[in-house]
Amino acid sequence: MARAAFTGSFTQQAPIPEAGIAAALDVMRSGRLHRYNIAPGETPEVVALERAYADWQGAAFCLALASGGQAMQIALRAAGVTPGDKVLTNAFTLAPVPGAIAALGAEPVLVEITGDLVIDLADLAAKAQHSGARHLLLSNMRGHLADMDRLMQIARAAGLTVIEDCAHTMGARWNGQRSGNFGLAGCFSTQTYKHMNSGEGGFLTSDDAAFMARATMLSGSYMHYAHHGAGPGAEAYRDIRFEMPNLSARMDNLRAAILRPQLAGLDDAIIQWNARYDRVAAHLSGHPALRLPKRPVAEAYVGSSIQFFVPGLPDDMARAFLEATAALGVDLKWFGAAEPVGFTSSHQSWRYAPAQNLPGTDRILAGLFDMRLPLTFSLEECDLIAAHILDVAADLSRAAA
Ligand SMILES: *Cc1c(COP(=O)(O)O)cnc(C)c1O
Repeated sequence: MARAAFTGSFTQQAPIPEAGIAAALDVMRSGRLHRYNIAPGETPEVVALERAYADWQGAAFCLALASGGQAMQIALRAAGVTPGDKVLTNAFTLAPVPGAIAALGAEPVLVEITGDLVIDLADLAAKAQHSGARHLLLSNMRGHLADMDRLMQIARAAGLTVIEDCAHTMGARWNGQRSGNFGLAGCFSTQTYKHMNSGEGGFLTSDDAAFMARATMLSGSYMHYAHHGAGPGAEAYRDIRFEMPNLSARMDNLRAAILRPQLAGLDDAIIQWNARYDRVAAHLSGHPALRLPKRPVAEAYVGSSIQFFVPGLPDDMARAFLEATAALGVDLKWFGAAEPVGFTSSHQSWRYAPAQNLPGTDRILAGLFDMRLPLTFSLEECDLIAAHILDVAADLSRAAA
């Protein structure tokens, strides 16, 4: 008997909390949208948000920015990356990551991934040694964390400065430590499809006062740095304030206003995402033709999306799988397509970086499917979605047999 098609939207995020809407109206009524436009005695929304995020993240400092991509560019610059430098990064990530490296005139050196979608530590160690790179922009792509203890050992031994792209791991932990707190800095996104939604936006966090002072000047602080509630003290700026170019990548009070109540609800949202993830994963992991990436016990993840492999699936069958699931209202992405579609991204399409040979990553991505799990889906809808995927997988295995 045919099941009803799923009719929900995979791109529909939860609404902004009413408290955020009310706070945004207050900001608009005040007219003081710029973070440095401060009335006497006022704590602007951006400053309140930076303090609250630094506190939640467990980082000494937080800087709110215009996007996650800007957070990465500013982090790389503030960490001392200069034009022509090589910067290591995952071969499987989203375009803003190699884009941040290329935007500085630096050169991405792509590191293979494993079948569990994390950076391949053996390839990282080898490329750290041979490339001459001094920085790693680690991407915790689709919310999967590498063995962070081993990774940091490798980085220390090779003298690599680590900057973490936590666009998909805001709230995740490795052995109890929050993603973003392992290296010099963590970069986060509050773009609509991430764990907090301000349309566009991002955070940079770090414990390093000198680094944060440089980042703050780069963000376009003019000489207002004393007005940061979650940044280093004025002494950190003394020597660098005339040296950092202004990139004008600040967050404004309107976005901060809608983010603050979302931060207050983030721990609860994580529980809801994981309930959806675990529900779908329980269905899919029972099927012999599908494989889910392993989730190590040390990893506390945030299941805002789910990945699975159909190993050995030829390209035409992968396309048939996509079509058949789409006809049932299930919006899967396939990372094996020759041309990237939507948020899929492949290293072959980053033509601003030198072409690199990554046979392991290519083999893994050929069988990789991905699906968003917005909080607007109920658990019963997750059951229906998983049932459709399993039905299509069964049909295709019968057709192939
Ligand atoms: C979304 C995203 C970013 C940052 O994106 P912005 O749109 O610039 O905020 C960085 N890395 C990954 C893997 C992402 O998905």
